[in-house]
Amino acid sequence: MSVIDEIKANIDIVDLINSMGVGLRRSGRSFVGFCPFHPNSRTPAFHVYPDTQSFYCFGCHASGTAFDFVMRKQGLDFKGALELLAERAGIRLEPKNDAQRQEDARRARLLEINGVAARYFNYVLLNLSRGAPGREYVARRGINQEAIDAFQIGYSLDDWGHLFTYLHDKKGYSVEDIIAAGLAIPGERGPYDRFRNRIIFPIRNVRGEVIGFGGRALGDAQPKYLNTPETPLFKKSEVLYGLDLARDAIRTANRAIVVEGYVDVITAHQHGFRNVVAPLGTALSKAHINQLKRLTDAVYLALDADAAGQKATLRGLETIRTATEEEGEGRMVTTAQGIVRLENDVTIRIIRLPAGRDPDEVIAADPALWQQLVEQAAPVMDFYLEAYTAGLDMHDPAQQRLALERIIPLLSELDGAAQRVYVARAEQITGVRSELIVDLLRARVQPARRNERARRNSPPPPPPPPAPAPVAASPLDERRRKTEAYLLALALRYPSVNVAIEKLLEEYNARRREAGELFGAGLEDLLEEPLHQAIWRAYLATPLELRPTDAESLQAWVETLGEPLTSEAKVLLEVLKRRPDDVRYRHEAEQCARILRKAQVLARIHRYNERLRELDNEEEIQRILHHIRELSAYAEQITQPRRSSTFPDLRDLLGQG
Ligand SMILES: [Zn+2]
Repeated sequence: MSVIDEIKANIDIVDLINSMGVGLRRSGRSFVGFCPFHPNSRTPAFHVYPDTQSFYCFGCHASGTAFDFVMRKQGLDFKGALELLAERAGIRLEPKNDAQRQEDARRARLLEINGVAARYFNYVLLNLSRGAPGREYVARRGINQEAIDAFQIGYSLDDWGHLFTYLHDKKGYSVEDIIAAGLAIPGERGPYDRFRNRIIFPIRNVRGEVIGFGGRALGDAQPKYLNTPETPLFKKSEVLYGLDLARDAIRTANRAIVVEGYVDVITAHQHGFRNVVAPLGTALSKAHINQLKRLTDAVYLALDADAAGQKATLRGLETIRTATEEEGEGRMVTTAQGIVRLENDVTIRIIRLPAGRDPDEVIAADPALWQQLVEQAAPVMDFYLEAYTAGLDMHDPAQQRLALERIIPLLSELDGAAQRVYVARAEQITGVRSELIVDLLRARVQPARRNERARRNSPPPPPPPPAPAPVAASPLDERRRKTEAYLLALALRYPSVNVAIEKLLEEYNARRREAGELFGAGLEDLLEEPLHQAIWRAYLATPLELRPTDAESLQAWVETLGEPLTSEAKVLLEVLKRRPDDVRYRHEAEQCARILRKAQVLARIHRYNERLRELDNEEEIQRILHHIRELSAYAEQITQPRRSSTFPDLRDLLGQG
């Protein structure tokens, strides 16, 4: 039995999740609670299945095993989760071989030296008379004692060997280890201190261990910011400063704010904004995003803006693009949608800072303004549209064209619904008709997408093998999306649709109870597109007497939604114009519901099949096979009605064979 199996056998996922702050109550064969990974307070969407030892959220589709839960909830990587769960299960991790043990011991020594050095720098700052320049700096930046303690801020003396002498002579660490930790540099006359006359910001990993240091020069020394070099502990491009202190706040707020500097982070935390982190003077990388993704699905960027129109922020975004390309992902991550596609579910918003001011200045001067700027952060596409068209005169055809030249490449990064929303927005901004924008997009998108696929599918030097077909998920997704949009349109237009769908789904669930328990019976349980869900939630939140009852009141209601919901609702209601009014709408809605429910069941079966492949415990395999049989029976009962010879078929209307 592998360690992982042993842990699985010794941990009950229901106990585990309960003990980590998610209240669960029994509901049939599963347990339900409010999801810790998305804002969820009305209907519990988070399900835990003791028999498969798995969880699944019907709101945000977070899913997986105890390992996935711990990784995501605690922001740990797999190794971290393994250690935590092993400890919980009372299992000793596999004895390691000699090389591993040596490596572990070395890491432990370097961590220890870093910890000692951090305390030393902090002591020098607070207590030595020669630490005065450091104290002046923190006072000037308005950093208070509490923040100095929390971030363990320190000062390195203007001295070539004070720290080295302390670590080597007094504490007994070896020259080799002190150099390996990056604290001293070998020189002709012996090792000397790397950090001299600098404010020291200890850099900690998510577990709070000191893995390196950032030093800001006082005086004219270059570089202004000096980091620990790459060491076995420290990978500069992967670290987020402040993450250990921000972790819980990021998860609670379901929002991570990324700023540029140490002092921005410290000032934010000092003023109670604890979900703030910073990369170490590098571009925001995929490694950064991956760490944040374990904690939240919303990343806000407040990178320094300058008076010339947020150029710095734009540069920041460009570097996301570049960094990802360099890693060979082949997918540009410029837009929220691009991030969604690449990172599964991180969206990015841009905080617009007043020209020429850094986050720490804004926060220190006016915390309420900062809060407001965060709340008003723009989705990445809105930000681009605004930034790229600022100062252009849309009555001048030449400038209109310039605007389109900038915007079209961005629009081409978007998919389906999002693209329609932003084409409409681009029309509003530029005054160019959306049909024309779509034409321009089509002309451009085709070759662009082709190149991208080719790049994605072909590893460099050896001539590429015949490119495999692009991932098959997309046509299915597109079909799903269309079906979902059509069902939602019908439900908004004809109030009785909602009731009919509920009745249909309840019938299905009642007939195959065991599988039925896995699926809700509300129309909202069929919707997976966030914009669709938001529109439907808005509908349900509208008092009965104010709900639209005909085409005209529906138009008026749609206008009250606010963007981007209004644009999206208009697009999805567009399709109703192509169908004969008040005929067979219930039949069509039910047909949509069948398609969507069947897709959900099949996806679930797919998930179980995936799980099956990684299992070797016979009993568990049998349990999962049983589930798959139940789900298949559930899917089986969802039959497609025959095509009508009298009425236009839904499948033709939606362009599906
Ligand atoms: Zn969720």
